[in-house]
Amino acid sequence: MIIILKPNIDKQGVDYRSIMDYLARLPGIQVRLHEEVGAQQVLTELYLIGNTAPLSKEEIHTLPGVERVVRVSEEYRILGRHKDDGRATHFDYNGVRFGQDTLHVFAGLCAVDTPPHVEMMMKALRDCGQVCTRMGAYKPRTNPYSFQGHGKACLPYVFDLAGKYGIKVIAMEVTHESHVDEIREALRNTGNPTGVMLQIGTRNTQNFELLKIVGRQLEFPVLLKRGFGITLEESLNAAEYLASEGNRNVVFGLRGMKTNMGDPHRNFVDFSHVPVVKRLTRMPVCIDPSHSVGTRERAPDKILDIMHVTAQGIMAGANMVLVDFHPAPAKALVDGPQALTLQELPYFLEDVKIARQAYEMRAKLADDFSKVNSAVA
Ligand code: PEP
Ligand code: MN
Repeated sequence: MIIILKPNIDKQGVDYRSIMDYLARLPGIQVRLHEEVGAQQVLTELYLIGNTAPLSKEEIHTLPGVERVVRVSEEYRILGRHKDDGRATHFDYNGVRFGQDTLHVFAGLCAVDTPPHVEMMMKALRDCGQVCTRMGAYKPRTNPYSFQGHGKACLPYVFDLAGKYGIKVIAMEVTHESHVDEIREALRNTGNPTGVMLQIGTRNTQNFELLKIVGRQLEFPVLLKRGFGITLEESLNAAEYLASEGNRNVVFGLRGMKTNMGDPHRNFVDFSHVPVVKRLTRMPVCIDPSHSVGTRERAPDKILDIMHVTAQGIMAGANMVLVDFHPAPAKALVDGPQALTLQELPYFLEDVKIARQAYEMRAKLADDFSKVNSAVA
């Protein structure tokens, strides 16, 4: 059960004290407090842990200082959508809003290789009006002899160049606690010219210790990739791990499932789960067409498979697209064969716009239909 208190409730005041006294008298119930500090107000939520079934929602609602009481199902207590749950489905980070109704493209390098390539990428993004990118510094690789990213050595120039070209959010995978510290320190040393969304890769979706560490820091939002060989429920629980440790600014990423049923694509595209994740949780949903498809093959209509699946995900309501680009794919150190080129960037963004317009038209059609039909019923 979640008790949402009146905005800006005074923690020293009588109302707050009487709620806490009431809750302290409930046998076997623990209270966990969460504060959402916004620009205008502080929202206080109390999570009741234990057997809340016998508690009366109505009685709690009558306590002074209580705005709303939400009975949560067992699943995804914090990130889930529950009945009568009016909690926000968005968050703001470094001036960018991420929600279940927004759409951002994170086009960029799978792996940072050279400063000129980073600069060419950032400049192309700026010229196309983009404020987000992806830049891999820490790369988990299947083969121990493969290039594993430049790590902290590349962070200063990546952040400086991001600042130079007005990039506000960089999605960057971390595989270890020390990477978060290195990112924080490099941002500070460069004067915080940009922001970072920490990415948990598919190989670490159930690395619970990493999830706890990343969940405990509240500075950076997190993009959690779905695990490639586990159920959706298991991956959503992994997202809930982050939130249960404190960080609710989580985006959930679909990137395809590992099975040869997806051949000849690298993974079996799972973007049909975009609406499912939006229904079950309040997280914005990201699609990664590059790691799903993994090739630059195209259909007879000349459209790349990567762009076909991007459109499918967007038309299903995706909120973020993580996509590999490279100024010289043949020279890329990681995943060159699936990278789009800088010449393709404006074309890709135009295609994204068409798919988004189609989604908006579809959502309006559904809304109109439901209004007419509920009026009839
Ligand atoms: C990536 O986005 O660079 C990546 C490695 O993705 P995934 O974890 O989905 O394989
Ligand atoms: Mn990659």
